[in-house]
Amino acid sequence: MSDVRNVIIIGSGPAGYTAALYTARASLKPLVFEGAVTAGGALMNTTEVENFPGFQDGIMGPELMDNMRAQAERFGAELVPDDIVAVDLSGEIKTVTDTAGTVHRAKAVIVTTGSQHRKLGLPREDALSGRGVSWCATCDGFFFKDQDIAVIGGGDTAMEEATFLSRFAKSVTIVHRRDSLRASKAMQERAFADPKIKFVWDSEVAEIEGDPKLSGLKLRNLKTGEISDLAVTGLFIAIGHDPRTELFKGQLNLDDEGYLKVEAPSTRTNLTGVFGAGDVVDHTYRQAITAAGTGCSAALDAERYLAALA
Ligand code: FAD
Repeated sequence: MSDVRNVIIIGSGPAGYTAALYTARASLKPLVFEGAVTAGGALMNTTEVENFPGFQDGIMGPELMDNMRAQAERFGAELVPDDIVAVDLSGEIKTVTDTAGTVHRAKAVIVTTGSQHRKLGLPREDALSGRGVSWCATCDGFFFKDQDIAVIGGGDTAMEEATFLSRFAKSVTIVHRRDSLRASKAMQERAFADPKIKFVWDSEVAEIEGDPKLSGLKLRNLKTGEISDLAVTGLFIAIGHDPRTELFKGQLNLDDEGYLKVEAPSTRTNLTGVFGAGDVVDHTYRQAITAAGTGCSAALDAERYLAALA
């Protein structure tokens, strides 16, 4: 068992690295578990990021994350590319266990484990991510000016993405597995009234095509089995997100969708000394800048909590 640290951060996206930067600059020597497979978070899987302030010409996602990582490290954050597999957050001293079974102890813990967008599970999906396939209209819509786009899903997010994209796109086709939408009445009406939005009902994506960029989809009608082609250069998948909170079930309060509950506008969870930030908390904005912003808030909350203990 290790010595007691001031603060341990679990997760390494914009929220985790920002929390690391702030706690490091406050001389708290944070220990950051970055994750074994995807250290750096969701932006490691994308190409150009054009909406993170301070980068006039945009920046590649992995480069942005490398910069954040280096900036946190420069001030003394200790970064470990490993997963935390167990936690005990209830006592005054919290424990987290890494994949080797080593138990690390700290007075405060910041949870920034992010959320995972749901995938269709099709072969070309990952290869074409950032090359026509996207999970975020706010992030990528601008790249699809005057193009034909498909949006997959039937909930509020899908309708919101579709109506947002119709500002830029030549056409938006919503593909939905059923013959009616789950989205709220208001969102449905807005989508139905939009002349650029069309619907393909009772259908799913059977194949994603294109190399090196998306060129089209094969759709399967779930009632007739019929396969049809849809020529699109953009595919936005809006079938939901899963916050990474499995580890905290039974200890931290989660909402109905599994997101970490905090006492907003603070980042305090139901357990003293445990704070949450970024997409693991946020199902509304889901942007790198908002994750970084709440990562900063969590660091300041943790700093004040630790100062009060002393
Ligand atoms: P994440 O970035 O998801 O990071 C969470 C990290 O925690 C991951 O590294 C994960 O491995 C780690 N982790 C999870 N569990 C554990 C554990 N048990 N132990 C250790 N580590 C763990 N936003 C924009 O603002 N602009 C864009 O252009 C943009 N483009 C995007 C493109 C794509 C393809 C995607 C998927 C998202 C994009 N976003 C964009 C959204 C943005 O990436 C997220 O909002 C942001 O990354 C959320 O940051 P986060 O720190 O909360 O979580």
